[in-house]
Amino acid sequence: MKTGIIITDTYSNHNTGQDHPERADRVTVVIEHLKKKGSKNLVWKKPSKFDLKYLELAHDKAYLNNINDAFPTKGVNFLDGDTILSPGSKAAARDAVASIITAIDGVMNKDFKNAFCAVRPPGHHAEKQKAMGFCVYNNVAVGAYYLLEKYNLSKVAIIDFDVHHGNGTQNIFYNNEKVLYISSHQYPYYPGSGASNEKGVKDNVLNIPLVAGTQSHEFLNAYDSIFKKLKEFKPEFILLSAGFDAHKDDPLAQINLESEDFYTLTKRIMSLAKELCGKKIVSILEGGYDLNALKESVDYHVKSLSE
Ligand SMILES: [Zn+2]
Repeated sequence: MKTGIIITDTYSNHNTGQDHPERADRVTVVIEHLKKKGSKNLVWKKPSKFDLKYLELAHDKAYLNNINDAFPTKGVNFLDGDTILSPGSKAAARDAVASIITAIDGVMNKDFKNAFCAVRPPGHHAEKQKAMGFCVYNNVAVGAYYLLEKYNLSKVAIIDFDVHHGNGTQNIFYNNEKVLYISSHQYPYYPGSGASNEKGVKDNVLNIPLVAGTQSHEFLNAYDSIFKKLKEFKPEFILLSAGFDAHKDDPLAQINLESEDFYTLTKRIMSLAKELCGKKIVSILEGGYDLNALKESVDYHVKSLSE
């Protein structure tokens, strides 16, 4: 079976303004590079429409109403200092959520073995009732709830290897023992959360804080405790919050991974997924702000998923 690559028509109309690090070029370079390589192991998909009720599982209704009102018909609207909405943002943000749902359906229906969603805006900083850090809807959180609701799963793991802590995902699942949220991230750093003593009400959160300057081998060693926790939890499905900003060339953080490290990391996650959950993995793009590093790192990640 192949790896699904989910891409949207709308990401490029989410206009965050000139010089914003979370810009449309990020996704464009990733898609163009994967298309140019033309791997036969990939199957390309567009997201289907989804029932908006699934957004309400991850976010408060009042928040969703506020966001709906905040999507501008012209000009831009700032949700916080760096989370910006333009007229194209509504379709892009909904399609990012639709992508993870389409990816999950594809894996559950065995249309493809696993999937990567090349989308924006990212999601892991969006809390139950707060937009933040370039994120509007928490894509991966809606995906996890979708697995619980639609497919009746009782254990879903989210591994977040973005260099920033996914405060939003942690916030949404802090009391929910059906979801194990695991994050490795630079700490102390933006957004401020992610200390190792933040463990979730049901011991369902594992934070692995890493100091600035962490090198590849230290980063990969830190995953030993993550894999131990995953084995104890025994997830039925693994979602990846795939941020590539722990790369040494990334301008937004100071962890020193090489592009190839995302191959190694993904391979290790895949071998656990084989043992624990019949290889069921859906990965969705979060951060990664150096275009060349992002392009190379996603290439290694997808190569690993598709082998
Ligand atoms: Zn990040």
